[in-house]
Amino acid sequence: MEPQRSPLLEVKGNIELKRPLVKAPSRLPLPGSRFKRGPDQMEDALEPEKKRTRGLGTASKFATSYPRAPALTTVPQAQGQTAAPKVPKKIAPRCSTAVAPVLKNQKPGPAVPAKKPGTAAAPPKPGGKKPSKRPAWDLKGQLCDLNTELKCCRERTQTLDQENQQLRDQLREAQQQATALGAERRTLEGELARVRAQAEQGQQELGNLSARVLELEEWLGTQEGLVQGLQKEQLELQEERRGLVIRLEEQERRLQASEAALSDSQAEVASLRQEAAAQAALLAERGERLHGLEMERRRLHNQLQELKGNIRVFCRVRPVLPGEPSPAPGFLLFPPGPGGPSDPPTHLSLFRSDERRGTLSGMPAAPTRHDFSFDRVFPPGSRQDEVFEEIAMLVQSALDGYPVCIFAYGQTGSGKTFTMEGGPGGDPQVEGLIPRALRHLFSVAGELSSQGWTYSFVASYVEIYNETVRDLLATGTRKGQGGECEIRRAGPGSEELIVTNARYVPVSCEKEVEALLHLARQNRAVARTAQNERSSRSHSVFQLQISGEHTGQGLQCGAPLNLVDLAGSERLDPGLALGREERERLRETQAINSSLSTLGLVIMALSNKESHVPYRNSKLTYLLQNSLGGSAKMLMFVNISPLEENVSESLNSLRFASKVNQCVIGTAQANRK
Ligand code: ADP
Ligand code: MG
Repeated sequence: MEPQRSPLLEVKGNIELKRPLVKAPSRLPLPGSRFKRGPDQMEDALEPEKKRTRGLGTASKFATSYPRAPALTTVPQAQGQTAAPKVPKKIAPRCSTAVAPVLKNQKPGPAVPAKKPGTAAAPPKPGGKKPSKRPAWDLKGQLCDLNTELKCCRERTQTLDQENQQLRDQLREAQQQATALGAERRTLEGELARVRAQAEQGQQELGNLSARVLELEEWLGTQEGLVQGLQKEQLELQEERRGLVIRLEEQERRLQASEAALSDSQAEVASLRQEAAAQAALLAERGERLHGLEMERRRLHNQLQELKGNIRVFCRVRPVLPGEPSPAPGFLLFPPGPGGPSDPPTHLSLFRSDERRGTLSGMPAAPTRHDFSFDRVFPPGSRQDEVFEEIAMLVQSALDGYPVCIFAYGQTGSGKTFTMEGGPGGDPQVEGLIPRALRHLFSVAGELSSQGWTYSFVASYVEIYNETVRDLLATGTRKGQGGECEIRRAGPGSEELIVTNARYVPVSCEKEVEALLHLARQNRAVARTAQNERSSRSHSVFQLQISGEHTGQGLQCGAPLNLVDLAGSERLDPGLALGREERERLRETQAINSSLSTLGLVIMALSNKESHVPYRNSKLTYLLQNSLGGSAKMLMFVNISPLEENVSESLNSLRFASKVNQCVIGTAQANRK
């Protein structure tokens, strides 16, 4: 295959090819064109002709001086060979004038013998005057004339024969020349055809090339457009490059400045590191001191709690509710402490008028005054936060590793649940001890984390009804069913007690505690019946397992915090008819009384340091046994109704609480490991 040429090269090549076609002198015998040839070209073109005509001399010149066609037509080849050429008529009368034009260019032939003067009548000289007419009688003269004329005719004939011979030679030559010219013509015609074909091919090529040129011009246009686009782009890029170079320079300047700043900063960092190391050493030393102080605080805190008593009893009297009859003035009195009215009250006097007691005078007997003294007495107007303030330090003991138990004791409707869980409606003002205690614990645990302590809290909430334990945090299908649970030891030889089937929920914030209390309320509501307000007939035990760890010091501490809303302590009216419901109620009440008196007995046994503590006599004391022992701290709220109609139950409660208040449980020991 021929290698592909560049379109531009092709064009150039074709154009070069074209030139000889146009400028090459034609070899056609066109009239007028043959003399325009250059001498060399003529020589080449006519080479064969020259060869043919060489030697023809004047004959060839004669032949070429006339148009060729007439020579060929007037002297046909066949005729030329046989017949003598016709002599033009004009030359017939005078042989001298007729031959002259034919022979004027010929070499001089043999001369016609000149007429001897005097031998005959002088023949008329060519171009001379015609001899005058001889008289008729001058026959001799006439004969002489005729002889002369005959002689002249013979000469003429001879001349004509010569001329004829010459013409025949010329004709032959002309024929030969014609033959040669015919051959040349054919050659030239062939050449012409070839040239024409070439020209046509050239034309076609030219057409193709023109199309190609157009195509290339179009392509060139596109390319030029592209080139312009690229040039524009190049300009833009150059502009952008200039911008970038400027930015780069700016960045480099900034980098240099940053590097300088960095080296300054590094120097500063190095000095700061040294400082930090010194600070860390100082901090470690201070941490150590702080830890020592914290341990000292715990010891002192515990001492303070012990001084206050490991069993403390607070009395709280609820306000008279809307719709309730107001008690007689002076029914309940809260005498100020030894420090005067500014002292928090610790005494309570209850005046009971017994109408059954008569006097000798018949006048109603004066009301009997009953004085009670507790660690703290909260009159009806006391707010929830005031109450909590008093127990906050006790709650904190649980973080320090001392088991804590807080009870709410009292008849139904005296305000136990209000004290422990809070009032209705989720009002933060009436939040009870459970949410407040937990919030306090989370907050103190957060503070202690800066000293290296990590705390975790796990909550459970169960109720003990008729000596059966039910989970108040049950969810799903167990929700409200209060599936029975068992109190078991966590493992063989373990002191820890757990409630089987009960949920133990890790808590770390108030929201989670709120959710648990809400769930417990829902579970109680489902279990409630019209006849039986079960919540008041059961003990609710909220337990929080607290685990603390100080990895730096390798210390661990853990203690349960128990917040117990006890069942109503009221006795059953012995005068009530014993129907089916009443019998049921009686059974409930007996169970409640039994467990409450067991609680009292356990506290007494602990106080008296008896060898046997009857924990097992009730589910409540059994469950709480680890929080009631020697190292535990106990607080009992005795809730009192302000109503006169509840005076009997109030007195019972106050008496029970007084007994508990007299108990002193041995020095508490923190549960340190
Ligand atoms: P208990 O749990 O002992 O049966 P509750 O806590 O249910 O008694 O209280 C009975 C009613 O008295 C509830 O309506 C409660 O809101 C209201 N109550 C109790 N104590 C207070 C108090 N300190 N302030 C205001 N309302 C109280
Ligand atoms: Mg209650």
